[in-house]
Amino acid sequence: MTKEKVWLSSPHMGGEEAKFVTEAFDTNWVSPVGPHIVAFEEVLSTYNSIGHCAALSSGTAAIHLALIILGVKQGDEVICSSFTFSGSCNPIAYQLATPVFVDSDTSTWNMDPDLLEQAIQDRLKKTGKKPKAIIIVHLYGTPARIEAIMDIAKRHNIPVIEDAAEALGATYKGKKLGTFGDLGVYSFNGNKIITTSGGGALVSENEAWIKKARFLATQARDAAPHYLHSEIGYNYRLSNICAGIGRGQMMVLDERVRQRRDNFEFYTRELGTLPGVYFLPEPEHSFSNRWLTTLLIDPAQTGGVTREDIRLALEAANIESRPLWKPMHTQPVFKDAPSYVNGVSEKLFDQGLCLPSGSNLPTADRSQVVEIIKKVLKK
Ligand SMILES: *Cc1c(COP(=O)(O)O)cnc(C)c1O
Repeated sequence: MTKEKVWLSSPHMGGEEAKFVTEAFDTNWVSPVGPHIVAFEEVLSTYNSIGHCAALSSGTAAIHLALIILGVKQGDEVICSSFTFSGSCNPIAYQLATPVFVDSDTSTWNMDPDLLEQAIQDRLKKTGKKPKAIIIVHLYGTPARIEAIMDIAKRHNIPVIEDAAEALGATYKGKKLGTFGDLGVYSFNGNKIITTSGGGALVSENEAWIKKARFLATQARDAAPHYLHSEIGYNYRLSNICAGIGRGQMMVLDERVRQRRDNFEFYTRELGTLPGVYFLPEPEHSFSNRWLTTLLIDPAQTGGVTREDIRLALEAANIESRPLWKPMHTQPVFKDAPSYVNGVSEKLFDQGLCLPSGSNLPTADRSQVVEIIKKVLKK
């Protein structure tokens, strides 16, 4: 008998989504305009306590538009966390600008503020120019040291794009992630904490910027009876159908956060005291959405068992797990980019594994994951 595959993070509908989608069909609002888009933007703004929101086709599109709005062009440099998914930094390359990667700290696994300061000063010295923007990421839903990073950015007068693609619902000192930077980004891709099948959003307190994002996302059509363009535009708007899914998902978001956090608590309770197994504690003042539960395996303390041994044992049982993000400064496509590294993200990549973390993960599957890991560690 082959057991059904256990996924890392699969879509989890709440129940109301299909109703909103049917409504879109019944009213023939099936294009990238319509009432669900407006309502989805409103509910996202309200949930995050932020002034303005543009619903877009992906998180990557949101980062791309943020860079354009901040005037990033060919020859500019943009600082970005190295320990992230390529969606954070590919848009820098779309703009023919140069990414400058900054490594992580050990307390959040996100951008190290001291290294950020060093990077800014060194770029100033080497190029005579300030980086045009900073993209900071809250990986796996754990808040970065956002206050320290914002202080540095303000002191140097460099705008911050906050990539909260994995961090919807997480907070720092009670304030939602994605609302600290000049612009914030969310993703509703299929594996994120909530999904619109594919989608994203750009948020800001700056209304003009969000209006500009909507304009650019709909092919930059100037006000005229014919199609008139004085700028290059993009086809980046979310469809009204997907926005309908998003409205249903927002109704269960806080429940999804609770379920994901429950996965984390279960895994840490079962595995957290084993030698060589480490889970990242929640940093001070932080509330993580624990989008994915991640652990580190230190072979020096496990008698040589590596995270790859565990990944392969899970795979043999048809259970999906995945190494942590491979740092961008080690990616072939970004190998020539300037980078400021301290070894932290490379070690996380070597030792880290994301465990099945869906909000709809059956408890029996979760227990099986734990049993397999315990067995591998006993060998
Ligand atoms: C998913 C993700 C993105 C990109 O979002 P898409 O909607 O898939 O384009 C960007 N940054 C991070 C950190 C992500 O995890």
